[in-house]
Amino acid sequence: MHEYTAETEKLADDIVSYARWRTRLDPIPLDHPRTEAELTEICGPTVTSTGIGGEQALRLFSEVLAPACLSVDYTRYLSFVPAAPTEAAVLFDLVVGAFSIYGGSWIEGAGAVHAENEALRWLTDLCGMPKSSGGVFVPGGTIGNLSALVAARGAAEKKLADAGKDRPDRWAFIVSATAHSSVPSAAAVMDADVIKVETGPDRRLTGPLVAAALAQHGDRVAGVIATAGTTNLGVIDDLASIGKLCRDRDVFFHVDAAYGGAGLAAPSARPSFDGIEFADSVIIDPHKWLFAPFDCCALLWRDPDQARAVHAQHAGYLEFLDAYGDWNPSDFAIHLTRRARGLPFWFSLATHGTDAYADAVQVTLDLAAAAGARVEEAEHLALVWEPQLSIVVFERIGWDAAQYQAWTEAMMQAGTAFVVPSRHDGKPVFRFCFVNPKTTVEDIDLIIDALK
Ligand SMILES: *Cc1c(COP(=O)(O)O)cnc(C)c1O
Repeated sequence: MHEYTAETEKLADDIVSYARWRTRLDPIPLDHPRTEAELTEICGPTVTSTGIGGEQALRLFSEVLAPACLSVDYTRYLSFVPAAPTEAAVLFDLVVGAFSIYGGSWIEGAGAVHAENEALRWLTDLCGMPKSSGGVFVPGGTIGNLSALVAARGAAEKKLADAGKDRPDRWAFIVSATAHSSVPSAAAVMDADVIKVETGPDRRLTGPLVAAALAQHGDRVAGVIATAGTTNLGVIDDLASIGKLCRDRDVFFHVDAAYGGAGLAAPSARPSFDGIEFADSVIIDPHKWLFAPFDCCALLWRDPDQARAVHAQHAGYLEFLDAYGDWNPSDFAIHLTRRARGLPFWFSLATHGTDAYADAVQVTLDLAAAAGARVEEAEHLALVWEPQLSIVVFERIGWDAAQYQAWTEAMMQAGTAFVVPSRHDGKPVFRFCFVNPKTTVEDIDLIIDALK
């Protein structure tokens, strides 16, 4: 099965033309899930002792399995955080797969790591981080946040050890009540606590709120986590006041910009991020709003040595790598073997230039503003939150949770839209998240009409 035969050649043509067909497809259908029982019934056994053959496996995938996956890049898929990878990025992902690049070390992946670092440099520059900063691409914001929190704890432990003090029984992190679910999950993995700070009506974590929490919890705090673009509302915490406070108190400052970080690229949104330059670490998911395919999170470090101190793995069989080049991506997060998952993002950035990114992000910001205005005009809807980034949250007046759910399912089954209910202050709401520049105002009107 490792020989390249005439049969492989035929399969290669079929696979590549199938992939090209999908990237060309316009409009892309939403598709819809099927039950496990249905899929088992239709596909029959696929993993057998003699194999079903590439042709049959590809046929099953294209006719049954792929249509049973929602198209996250469908223009009226506005739930969670969708994806809208560029054609260049998607096509280059095929190349990354073809090359078996080991992206964990410089000696094995120098060319790929160099290119990834160029893309990471664009992001650290957008944040205003120093030239000595650097980063690594990890699978997602969840691993990015966990890696950052582990480094924060490492820095706090070092500080105590240097001062000759004992470490606390349990470490804690100061977070906003609106922080992403992956933050408490990371703290739980670390057996640490989260100190959840309730925010004011603007839902922003601020310096004074963090100062009060620090006064109460003192030496137990290993770091402060702010969010630049909360997942439900798109709110950006007051990064400037939190960042200055953390700098003054010498507390590790992590900014979770997994969704919102793309907004840094748009000059109109950039001022809302002021203070991000104080961060010790930042995460931005290019697979969310920077048009890269899954899975791709940029984890950025102000001082990469802080990350290396806790994340570099040591063993006799790895010593050789340390001797060659000083930038091994595996040293900067919780991982060793690593797909060069930043390459599709880099290829697209290199192809189109960063201005095209700024423009595309602006298109989605404008879509959110237009959707917000239309929601305000619609008599059956009530805007819950003035859109700050590309998220619009609103109520369907008079509906209960069951009606929200039923409407969503009907729209999904019909392939008309994928807009799932969320919850805000205990009440069901609808939420649009725009990341796809191909979504149009007509798409928004169609959904708003369907909500009557
Ligand atoms: C999506 C998101 C995460 C988690 O990122 P994954 O890539 O899904 O693991 C973390 N924080 C915020 C603010 C997010 O929006």
